[in-house]
Amino acid sequence: MIWIRTDEPRFFSDLGDVLRLFYGDVAISMEAGDVVFEHRFTDADGLWTDTWTSQGKRSSLSHPICDGAPLEVKRLRKRQIKQVLYNLLKDLTGMHPPWGSLTGIRPTRLLYEAMEAGMDLEAAVAHVTGAFDVSPDRAALLGEIARMQDGLRDAPPDTFDLYIGIPFCRTRCSYCSFSSGEIGDGKLVAPYVEALLREIGLCKALMEEAGVRLRAGYVGGGTPTAIPREALERIIAAAQAAFPGAVEWTVEAGRPDTIDEGKLRMLRERGVTRISVNPQTFSDDTLMRIGRAHTGRETIEAYQLARKLGFDDINMDIIAALPGEGVADFAHTLDVVQNLAPDSVTVHSLAIKRSSRLHEQLAVAGNGYGQVSREGAAEMIAMARRRLTEGGWRPYYLYRQKYMAGNLENVGYAKPDKACLYNIGNMEETASVLALGAGAITKWLFDPKCRDLRIERAPNVRNIEAYIQRVDEMVQRKRDVILRETE
Ligand code: SF4
Repeated sequence: MIWIRTDEPRFFSDLGDVLRLFYGDVAISMEAGDVVFEHRFTDADGLWTDTWTSQGKRSSLSHPICDGAPLEVKRLRKRQIKQVLYNLLKDLTGMHPPWGSLTGIRPTRLLYEAMEAGMDLEAAVAHVTGAFDVSPDRAALLGEIARMQDGLRDAPPDTFDLYIGIPFCRTRCSYCSFSSGEIGDGKLVAPYVEALLREIGLCKALMEEAGVRLRAGYVGGGTPTAIPREALERIIAAAQAAFPGAVEWTVEAGRPDTIDEGKLRMLRERGVTRISVNPQTFSDDTLMRIGRAHTGRETIEAYQLARKLGFDDINMDIIAALPGEGVADFAHTLDVVQNLAPDSVTVHSLAIKRSSRLHEQLAVAGNGYGQVSREGAAEMIAMARRRLTEGGWRPYYLYRQKYMAGNLENVGYAKPDKACLYNIGNMEETASVLALGAGAITKWLFDPKCRDLRIERAPNVRNIEAYIQRVDEMVQRKRDVILRETE
């Protein structure tokens, strides 16, 4: 147990994130522990000085006192206190995390901040390396992504993107962080579809009042294709009628065991432009181990069927560092993916969240369950980047998660002209997202000159039954956020 004694307890959770960069999923407390990290803050001689000490080592930094807006002051304070702790941890452990002191989920944001401050791309990449100790390799990755996003990053201001969540799956993957109550067993499909149709109808009026039109639609989950074809068609048809004119429609057909010709034909006829068929791995042993009730062969067949029916924009998700997999297993998955040649590939680093079954399994079995080392995970991610880039895919969006293997990243790679607008807008937070369904979070962008916050959120409840009962309230939440300015 690590004991943080700090003069700035408001940053406790951020400080915990820095400690986890070095010690993984460790227990951290403000009251007690075996290893103490002590922080002192002084505000004197025109300087804010933060000093951290632990295990006989010390690190300190000072910054001229800033009397800017409260949010800016908080941001500066948070950065400095984290930076000093990071420096101490580097000294104590001798480790250099690939993303340096960055703990947030969107490292590209810092690159764009530097560019907005007047730097060109090259200078911004160098700035991220210097200011946050990001490795040159990761900073270069940010640069490549910024080049890919050029011209695609900002959604037109009078548009929104749409997310529809279908929270049903046939079986639950061991790394899934939804509770089993949230990933429904199917009994609730019919009332859920009715609630979703109601939310779509009410939001049609809301979007008309807001004066915005749809740019990109995305149906995710769960596994949207886990529900009957007729039900999925009703949802897509209602959304397309309510919000016409999208330039892109993605449907996650994630689990190959939920895909059949009837569903794929329906998606084609409905004008769905992009689907995801997700192997995660092509090792059948691993698929069984992680609770996915399909084989690698079924993934290949579903993919080939989609190609035969004319889909020309197919994504595949794969995961590095799945339990029990070595570098050779991951290389095999990459071999198969490269042979199939999907239009985009999203490479995830396994994130073991506390609410997942895998977290419990590892807690019980420890390393006996086959957890991959930091080094192994890093080698897999580096291999994916090298091989996909050589094969003509380019990184176009990136995000990080807590509890991710080796402190790495998730990266979407795409062939030319196959970058998904929805993914870029959502990850970069450069598009307003109207989000429908249980657990979906609407994020609305505002002009910072008119509002304190550039983005405001309106979350729907996660529990499926609560969502069904309270759908009108979910729409009212969105209305309160989106129209507040004009009411
Ligand atoms: S497919 Fe996704 S949502 Fe469904 S159980 Fe697996 S991880 Fe969870």
